[in-house]
Amino acid sequence: MKRILLSIPHMSGAETAYVQQAFDSNWLSTAGPNLSAFEVEFGNYVGLPAVALASGTAAIHLGLRLLGVGQGDKVFCSTLTFAASANPIRYLGADPVFVDSNYETWNMDPSLVAEALRRSASGKLPKAVVVVDLYGQCADLEPIREICGQYGVPILEDAAEALGANYRGKPAGTLGDVGVFSFNGNKIITTTGGGMLVSARAAWVNKARFWSQQARDPGLAYQHSEIGYNYSMSNVLAGIGRGQLAILDLRVRQRRAIAFRYRRAFEDLPGIKPMPQASYGLHTNWLSCFLVEETEFGVSRDALIATLDDANVESRPVWKPMHLQPLYRDCECYGGSVAADLFRKGICLPSSSSLSLEDQLRVINAVRMLVGASPLNQLADAECAP
Ligand SMILES: *Cc1c(COP(=O)(O)O)cnc(C)c1O
Repeated sequence: MKRILLSIPHMSGAETAYVQQAFDSNWLSTAGPNLSAFEVEFGNYVGLPAVALASGTAAIHLGLRLLGVGQGDKVFCSTLTFAASANPIRYLGADPVFVDSNYETWNMDPSLVAEALRRSASGKLPKAVVVVDLYGQCADLEPIREICGQYGVPILEDAAEALGANYRGKPAGTLGDVGVFSFNGNKIITTTGGGMLVSARAAWVNKARFWSQQARDPGLAYQHSEIGYNYSMSNVLAGIGRGQLAILDLRVRQRRAIAFRYRRAFEDLPGIKPMPQASYGLHTNWLSCFLVEETEFGVSRDALIATLDDANVESRPVWKPMHLQPLYRDCECYGGSVAADLFRKGICLPSSSSLSLEDQLRVINAVRMLVGASPLNQLADAECAP
């Protein structure tokens, strides 16, 4: 039986024509027509100016620099996330301060941000707040924006996992002062590797582009007044991005359908609960996540992962929170017990948009049979619930 993986690339077929154009025109470089077109098309999709970069991590690095983060600064960051949300804080010599999630969204708890800012106001306010949109769902950004606005602290929205989601009708990644996306191979659409930075301030996007191209001053000489990076996206990969972006909304529907099939299939099982879908927006369900309550479910989360692995199904725990990482052990953290609990009980199941009904049934029945429930005969190819 072939292995079912967590989240794999899913090409539409249209990508190769753009890649071929890059070869035909010899634009095999970090400049070229695919690159400019991808930035324009992506900018149109989210409604903001955009610069294509080598990775989402590079985009966070440049985004934090745009917000003025430097040596010795504090930066608030969601603790329940992938390490790439926090590492660029360190690249800039700043110190992360982590903020816990709430159970309603699994994302940064607005009331904890308020408390953290209130307590920092007497000493040193953070230079920025990195708000992560986890697993395809936006954080509750309105109250976070409100409170950050009161203290004049800018927001970097890490929407690496949430491209295609929205918050009160606004695209994920457009609710902060800077927004960041990833096209890593396991994300909802991919360029094999890549990222995008967006901002309502076109001058900031241009500045990020300048830094991403080694920050060379205008003129003939290779003169440099600022530190730059080699962070551009390749014109070949931008071609893949163009083909992928065209079918993003379909990929969102497919990922949501997968998540809601799991939800229905586990409804009668005690002790396995889906990640909540907040009412304020559209959750892409980039990954289908569940909480396993060992006492009710009868099996621990880790035993479930092991059983799936034996059935040749890849699954993984919810992110290990940053405040529990050896790397960030000494950092301040507001709260932390919710993220720790979600990490302990949370599992991510195979969620590829290309996952067939047959393969999903295999995953579902491996879970059901482990706890002695009857296997399902088939899955309905229904569109997802509202
Ligand atoms: C994937 C991811 C990133 C990093 O993106 P890359 O393109 O892999 O560098 C950043 N933040 C989060 C939350 C991610 O999931």
